[in-house]
Amino acid sequence: MTIDTLSCYCGSAKLYGNCCATYLRGEQKPSTAEALMRSRFTAFCLKDADYLLASLHKEARAKESRKALLRSFGNTQWCSLRVIRCQQGAPGQQRGEVEFAAFYLDGDIGGQLHERSRFVFEEGCWFYVDGDILPPISLARNEACWCGSGRKLKKCHPE
Ligand SMILES: [Zn+2]
Ligand SMILES: [Zn+2]
Repeated sequence: MTIDTLSCYCGSAKLYGNCCATYLRGEQKPSTAEALMRSRFTAFCLKDADYLLASLHKEARAKESRKALLRSFGNTQWCSLRVIRCQQGAPGQQRGEVEFAAFYLDGDIGGQLHERSRFVFEEGCWFYVDGDILPPISLARNEACWCGSGRKLKKCHPE
């Protein structure tokens, strides 16, 4: 079994080989801001600094480095992604916004990044520009944990 036959990290319900793999390997370009956002989440899961750099808008890319990105990965293990809302970002549009919550583990401690990201379409590609960090979304403590353990949230991670 290869990684290609697993469900994609981005939560699209497609197989990795038919989803973000095609973007991370440069076989095709995401056609929407949401697809780019999802592929960047997958790149964080796989610690693919090159893809994260390449998908940054040029001004942001000028301020980032491969080394700093690699360092920023730390021990964070990204677990799952929820796309909450998309504004524009469709094929043929120039701008898009995607609001999402991304869940991670750092050792035993669980955490959440809730962000509204901005994207632009230039020269045939979507790029990530920047984002606003928002307060964490509230989760029902009886729902299945975002880490995929199958346990309820309240039973899964220490606060
Ligand atoms: Zn994917
Ligand atoms: Zn959990």
